[in-house]
Order: sequence, then C-alpha cells, then structure tokens
Amino acid sequence: MKKTEPSRLAPAFPTSLFAQLAEATNDVIIVTTPDMELPGPRIVYVNPAFTRLTGYTADEAIGRSPRMLQRSGTDRVTLDAIKRRLVAGLEVHEKLLNYAKGGERYWLDLRIVPLRDEVGKITHFAAIERDITMDKRRLDELEMVADRDGLTGIPNRRALLRVIESEIAVLRSRSTARPYGRDACLAFFDVDHFKSVNDAHGHGVGDAVLLGIADRLTENLRRSDALGRMGGEEFALWMPGVTLRDAQELVDRLRRIVSEQPFETPSGPVKVSVSIGVTAFQPIDNLVHLMNRADTAMYSAKKAGRNRVVALEGT
Ligand code: GH3
Ligand code: MG
Ligand code: MG
Repeated sequence: MKKTEPSRLAPAFPTSLFAQLAEATNDVIIVTTPDMELPGPRIVYVNPAFTRLTGYTADEAIGRSPRMLQRSGTDRVTLDAIKRRLVAGLEVHEKLLNYAKGGERYWLDLRIVPLRDEVGKITHFAAIERDITMDKRRLDELEMVADRDGLTGIPNRRALLRVIESEIAVLRSRSTARPYGRDACLAFFDVDHFKSVNDAHGHGVGDAVLLGIADRLTENLRRSDALGRMGGEEFALWMPGVTLRDAQELVDRLRRIVSEQPFETPSGPVKVSVSIGVTAFQPIDNLVHLMNRADTAMYSAKKAGRNRVVALEGT
C-alpha cells in the first residue's frame, strides 16, 4: 500500500473529522490489532453501524476477537483465504456469512485494509462491511426461478439436463461401469393430440391439464427419479439405478396414472393420454445420444398408435 501523503490532505483535515465520518456512515467499520499469531486480532474500535447490525455494543465488542461474529455456517475456506491475505499484508474483498448477537445470519460484503504508520508498518486492520443479506436472498431466489418451469413448478429443461449430465459423467467415470444399461434410464413423455385439447377448450384448460399431469407424475415418482418439463407438452424422466425392463414397468404405470382418470379443469373433466419412449444409458453414451434414443422410442410409440410405452435398447 502507498504511504499516506500528508500534503494531499492540505489544508490539514483533522483526525476528529474522520472519526465523525466513521461514526456517521451506514457501513460497518471494525478496527482490530494486526496480531496474526494466536489468539489473533483484537477489536479496538467499532462504529455505531456495527452495533445496529450485530446487536453488540462497542463495550461488548472491544477487546474481543472478530471470531465472535462467526459460527458454523461461516465458510472456513473463505476464512482461511482471508487470513492468508492478511498475513501477507494484502487487502481482502470477500462475501462472508456472519451472525448477530441474537443468532441472526447476515451476509457481508467485506473489505479489510491494513492501516500503516509513517514508516509503512501495519498498525491495524480496518474492516469495512456492508450488509448484503437481501441481495443474496434475491440472487438465491433468482437462481431457483431460473431452474423451475413457470407453469408447473417442476425443474425445467435446463435444470433437468444439468442433473442428467452430471450423473452421466459419474456413470462414465466408474471403472466398474456395468454394461448393458443397468445403471440408469431416460424416458420422454409427449401428450397425445394435445393440440386438440387447446382447440376444443382453450389454452387455459390446456395449461390446467399440463399442471395436472406434472402433479400426478410428481406424486408417483421414486425418490431418486428426476422429472422435468422439456417444453410444450413434453416431459422427461431420469431414473437412476434401474434396468430397462424395470424402467418400462415404472413408466407404464405412470402412463396409466395419467390416462385412466380425467383431469379437473375450469371447463370440466378432460381426458388425455401420453406416449412414452424409454431407453437405458450405455457406457459409451453422451447426453445427445441418450436423448436421441429416448426421442426415437417416443416417436415409435406415437406411430404404433399412441397411449403406449416403447423401450429401445442401446446399440
Ligand atoms: P401428438 O399426439 O402427435 O403429440 O399431437 P399433438 O397435438 O400433441 O402434437 P403437436 O406437437 O402438433 O402439438 C403440441 C401442442 O401443444 C401445440 C401447442 O398448442 C400445445 N402447447 C405447447 N405448449 C403449451 C402450453 O404451455 N400450454 C398449452 N395450453 N398448450 C401448449
Ligand atoms: Mg410434442
Ligand atoms: Mg403431443
């Protein structure tokens, strides 16, 4: 860090005015000793914004370690990274979870700067912190929204494919990968003659049916299965740990659950059926191969008369 040049502050800006700034700002300021050996830095100053955020008064904080603000949810890796930079005399900029006196969690945008005397020796660390809990929550919500299908609330195409892709990577990396698709199966569902549901009853009723299908499928899955809406009236189901024959039985049961009872809609009960294609993951498959086979199987089910399951062995 550069040494402060007093001449830049001319005419002299009194230290007491800086103290007033620190007291007035809404950002939290914590100043500690620079001791990095155990027991570590001690707090020598906190501003009123610190008390407003954490609930600790200056009297309660001064003399203690900033670790008083950390608990189990505080990320150890980040803490270690902070410590390494401070030992090296470097500035820190991190996001960190801290805890208030009452145990409330808050996310901080945290900057720590070493303060130096005229000869460049570090005399203190000053942490300047901003509460970003609301931003963080909004980000988490946005991330969740980005992974959900807006109509049905189940994972969307993007989210489901991410799950499948990561599980495929694990299956492929297993040296003991069992041949002939005992590891996982993928099924594609496409609602039969769905256009005529919309044409006969309107788009709103069509939406109610899609929602009903997603609900019925969700209620009847195994815990390990992953369902997603691929778009339009198409759903996909990823079933880890089953043979093709097991998967075929599983999805045929789902087919009957969808087809045998009508869906309640604003314009009365509506009956629909689904065509399903199912295929087993092969050790040489990538996501595209696997999806193409599930799609081919589904189209075979359509061609063969709809409302049925076609299973396709890998080649
Ligand atoms: P098939 O048995 O061959 O699958 O016939 P289909 O009518 O289902 O097939 P097609 O692909 O021609 O039509 C699908 C229809 O699904 C077209 C579109 O009107 C409807 N659709 C797609 N997305 C939505 C949606 O979000 N809501 C509603 N209500 N309808 C949708
Ligand atoms: Mg379709
Ligand atoms: Mg269709």
